[in-house]
Amino acid sequence: MPTIRTVCAHDCPDMCSILAHVENGRVVRIEGDPDHPFTAGFACGKVNRDTDLVHSPERLTTPLRRSGPKGEGRFTPITWDAALDEIVSNWERVMAESGPLALLGYAYSAHQGQINRGLTNGLFHALGCSRLRGGTVCDSCADAAWAVTVGDIGGADPQSVHASDLIVSWSSDLHATNVHLWAAIEKRRAAGVKLVVIDPRRTRSARVADLWLPIRIGTDSALALGVMHILVRDGRLDRDYLARHTLGFDQVEREVLPRFTPEATAAITGLPLADIETLANWYGAAKTSFIRIGFGLSRFTDGGQNLRTVALLPGVTGAYGRYGGGALLATAAGFELNYNALRKPSGPAETRTINHLKLGQALRELNDPPIRALFIAANNPAVTNPDTAGIRGGLARADLFTVVHDPFMTETAKFADIVLPATTYLETDDFYRAYGTYYMQYGQRAVQPQGEAWSNHRLTQTLAARMGLTDPVFQMSPPELVKELFRDATGAVTAFDPTALLDGKAVSVGPQGGQVFRTPSGKLEFYSATLAKQGLPPMPDWRPDPAHVGDDRLRLLTTPGYFQSHTAFSGNAFLREREGPPHAVLHPADAASRGLTDGQRVRLSNERGEVGLVLRVRDEIQPGVVLVPGQRPDSETAGGTVNMLCADDYTDMGEGATYQSTWLEVSAWT
Ligand code: SF4
Repeated sequence: MPTIRTVCAHDCPDMCSILAHVENGRVVRIEGDPDHPFTAGFACGKVNRDTDLVHSPERLTTPLRRSGPKGEGRFTPITWDAALDEIVSNWERVMAESGPLALLGYAYSAHQGQINRGLTNGLFHALGCSRLRGGTVCDSCADAAWAVTVGDIGGADPQSVHASDLIVSWSSDLHATNVHLWAAIEKRRAAGVKLVVIDPRRTRSARVADLWLPIRIGTDSALALGVMHILVRDGRLDRDYLARHTLGFDQVEREVLPRFTPEATAAITGLPLADIETLANWYGAAKTSFIRIGFGLSRFTDGGQNLRTVALLPGVTGAYGRYGGGALLATAAGFELNYNALRKPSGPAETRTINHLKLGQALRELNDPPIRALFIAANNPAVTNPDTAGIRGGLARADLFTVVHDPFMTETAKFADIVLPATTYLETDDFYRAYGTYYMQYGQRAVQPQGEAWSNHRLTQTLAARMGLTDPVFQMSPPELVKELFRDATGAVTAFDPTALLDGKAVSVGPQGGQVFRTPSGKLEFYSATLAKQGLPPMPDWRPDPAHVGDDRLRLLTTPGYFQSHTAFSGNAFLREREGPPHAVLHPADAASRGLTDGQRVRLSNERGEVGLVLRVRDEIQPGVVLVPGQRPDSETAGGTVNMLCADDYTDMGEGATYQSTWLEVSAWT
């Protein structure tokens, strides 16, 4: 039985190396690569079942042309040739009549491969089309806040936790999104190292933590400042490190910290005073404290300020200066590959950019020219974007020609004129670099494309030829494209020969010392002149969420599901069943005050719409919060998808999404 070493391409920080066992052209078993130090021989409970995903009876097998109203999901099979003819003739017509900006095309993050994703985006750049500013529904706020504080550089290596003497999981549900870091943490805990979990929800890791702080949503910056206040009070700062490697702490100490007394911090965060003191005591005593920062704490109005303040904390004790200490948000900036070789092979230096978060508004309102043709790969914005109803309104436009390339019939694909069957990662070659570890790796396909599925790579190159593009990347094989990614690359990746990487073994570019800062000052910036220039508070602080109008409705908390971390897993019936029906979780006190009981169908509603889910009554969240795990398509819910309730407003930094600045009411579903 052939065994293929490849890479899990799901949108997940771990980026596991996996072994796919193949029998008679089918993937029959998947396991984690035992030779990969971080994967450590196990794949997560979701990907163990990707055999079902690849061979799912729900896979699209042929190109389809819409035969019913947009959104209804009625299609007729057509040949690839007919589909490509129709796509190219529509694109040529739209571009001739309205110019290339009338076409918006993109591939997003359901497939993490640099080739399949990058080359598709390169096609539309070379054509001079409107481009998507991706990431704004996910990480752009967090990344901007990190960059302005630490710099455009990766954080601590997750493998360095073997040298950590305190581990803090801050707004990161490790069992859902970072299981291999959890495994490394468990080893440290066996050696007596304490784990603190700061999360509004009693997650699986919170249940077993040495200290769980069920923080009020959006008050993490206040907690970080409260801890700094106690460290100053108790003389537990590393003044030498602060003087040499940070900028502006003295001003923060004078002007901000006096307001964040333990009592004030407890009142803002909803945490017991004693627990705040315990956290500060442990943090002050540690030399190599490691904070895993989750993106979730950036997804509300002041999300950038919130995340930036937490990222400053390791500077106070000097933990950033020691291997094993510091903070990890993401590692992607540690791979300085020549991405533009694929993403911008030719075309204009600048073009019209559409914020992913505002896709609905752009489809409905943009003029000069309006978007008349849309191509989407590896993305399901009709479920995952905020303002989901607005997106669907735009997708329903009769004069919009939409193409969706996906392995499954998604809610978005139901609005398409042409749907094209896409391969999964197990059916295509690609090159990967992680965003939660420092590994990069070439992954071979394990089996032939199923049905008539095509990879993004094949589709892009075919469309490029038909559209008359002659850039060499549109004729190159995946191994040749890997060489392009390394041509003119900079930084740590240049230590590797791309040809040698084609054997499929993972290599690490992980830093071995303390944190390097790439801010304008070259230091950790407690005071940011960049933020001051943008009219934002230059120093860390906290204020109540200005999006809250002061009523007593419930605050929404959306998190990844343990078996449905995002919609790319919804094509797997086994995982859907493991996750259970799409549900909302209320604290018993909130359920009782509304006369609601466990298991009944409930309506989540606000001024933007309503969604029907099953109610679970649990004390895993605090009163005042409604938790909705997983992003589930309408077909599984009693009606709608939870992101319909979220506005498309911007965060304070990075023009990101404010999913957690959503207030709503829960009532019986009638
Ligand atoms: S933990 Fe993440 S990277 Fe690893 S197998 Fe699961 S989804 Fe893939």
